[in-house]
Amino acid sequence: MPTLPDRHAKIIATLGPSSSSFESILALAKAGANVFRLNFSHGSYEEHSARIEAVRHAEAELGHPLGLFLDLQGPKFRLGNFEEGKIKLEAEQLFRFDLDVKKLGDEKRVGLPHPEIIEALEVGHRLLIDDGKMIMTVTEVADQYIIAKADVKGTLSDRKGMSLPDAEINVSALTDKDKNDLAFGLSQGIQSVALSFVQRADDLLELRELAGPRAQLIAKIEKPTALQHLEAIVRQSDAVMVARGDLGVELPPEKVPAVQKRIVSMARSYGRPVIVATQMLETMISSPTPTRAEASDVATAVYDGVDAVMLSAETAAGDYPIEAVSLMSRIICEVEHDPLHRRLMEASQQTTENTNTDAISTAARQVATTLDAAAIICYSTSGKTALRAARERPESQIIALTADAQVARALNLVWGIQPVVCADANHMNEMVNIALSVTQEKGLVEDGDTVVITAGVPFGNAGSTNILRIAKVGTKV
Ligand code: PGA
Ligand code: MN
Repeated sequence: MPTLPDRHAKIIATLGPSSSSFESILALAKAGANVFRLNFSHGSYEEHSARIEAVRHAEAELGHPLGLFLDLQGPKFRLGNFEEGKIKLEAEQLFRFDLDVKKLGDEKRVGLPHPEIIEALEVGHRLLIDDGKMIMTVTEVADQYIIAKADVKGTLSDRKGMSLPDAEINVSALTDKDKNDLAFGLSQGIQSVALSFVQRADDLLELRELAGPRAQLIAKIEKPTALQHLEAIVRQSDAVMVARGDLGVELPPEKVPAVQKRIVSMARSYGRPVIVATQMLETMISSPTPTRAEASDVATAVYDGVDAVMLSAETAAGDYPIEAVSLMSRIICEVEHDPLHRRLMEASQQTTENTNTDAISTAARQVATTLDAAAIICYSTSGKTALRAARERPESQIIALTADAQVARALNLVWGIQPVVCADANHMNEMVNIALSVTQEKGLVEDGDTVVITAGVPFGNAGSTNILRIAKVGTKV
């Protein structure tokens, strides 16, 4: 029987070479990963397919939904591959980036499969490579290539990202690769999609056209322009990611903390799940323990009430993927047991909108607190009611009952929500009986627990939440 969930904030684990087999994915889920991320900046369709299948298999094995989203690379510029995988550059060394992408790179040159960059760059522009670890300055621009000088000594390796803070490049939000990757993901039954380098709300509209109205769209905030349109982007998205890797390249690092807090607070006020991502436990890529500063970074995000914290290379390509997830889970538990965390959740209550759903959600939180209820159980056809209940940041867990497996998977990203797939009820007593029996069967509540149930009559209609019912587990109505 599954144990009672002991935390609200969720964990996202990126899958990659260190975490591709069914066994390792199952172990990550058991260690506490709630959602998996497929990073389409890397890997072949065969590899992603195998991972998707392994996640579904783990989900069946565990008997509860696992979230899974594809992360589209977006208009990110990357180097080509090198003969030896990587090369070293000394400070002041000149190096060529050219359009000969078929030819593998060496000590003198590498392919750069982006003619639009070569067109936009001018002498004196900076190139920030590999999240800014390598800085170069353009010294010569030609038709088919550019030459740049290394400002510092460093390494260039296969498919590293390149940012151009000084150049203005006109690109659309979705590249051809993104469109193909999306079509592939949809054909595999994935409906949660993250879009990189979102700049404006229209970028999400474009994605929604292609992904369909039921898709869960995650806007990755990693461009200064996105910050100018943050509110519109948050409204147009279904979830938001603070993508600190690229954000911290495009912006000076000292600006990242305040920007992170601003994005988190904007997303929470609109009730959009918000993810803090990148370098959270970076040291654990190669070490079994993180730095204390990293532990503190995860904790800060949890104190801020984020829905999820994310692991990238730590689980995708690191030596300690399971350890990273378990440690993250332990940090979350510690923070959530700190009375300060609860006080912060109470202090950051959001204003209620004038809707039935919000009226019921606020009431459910209050009733649950007064009665020390074990759970708020929401019938949520589309997932919207469960989201509004989570926006209240109640002390008890939120169990979302939905008949739709895709909705259940998407809700796994959300603070405090335990999604359960179950049949819709047809009348009031059945509604209570199903809620009690299903959640008890899953081990989410126990005999004698008080629960608060919310639902909408007529049953099965999205957006109709209008009932709040108090019930006791183990009794039948
Ligand atoms: P990426 O996105 O890992 O796809 O680059 C996250 C980030 O930039 O932080
Ligand atoms: Mn990024």
